[in-house]
Amino acid sequence: MSETTNRRRFLIRAAVAVSTVPLMGGLLRQNAHAALPMLPLHNAQGKALQYVEDASTVKSPMFKEGSDCANCQLFVADTGACVLFPGFAVAEKGWCSAWVVKK
Ligand code: SF4
Repeated sequence: MSETTNRRRFLIRAAVAVSTVPLMGGLLRQNAHAALPMLPLHNAQGKALQYVEDASTVKSPMFKEGSDCANCQLFVADTGACVLFPGFAVAEKGWCSAWVVKK
């Protein structure tokens, strides 16, 4: 086997390995999200904080344009959880009146 062929095989394997890393990360994240049930819309605390699953529907004067759970300081990206709602995941595009800008 020539050195060129070996190098080509190495490069192809390296490319495949590198391209699967984000896929594996996505699968792991999906599994982490699957571990938590979504916050029910009838949750009393969620209702008190005006939680919605789609920030584009918010009519609250407290809403800041562009804010959503994904860019909230209280959002736990690894699990999709929110520290205000233990045991539940919230929608990344969701929003509630407790939103705090992520630092
Ligand atoms: S506190 Fe932040 S992450 Fe939690 S529901 Fe409200 S906007 Fe979403």
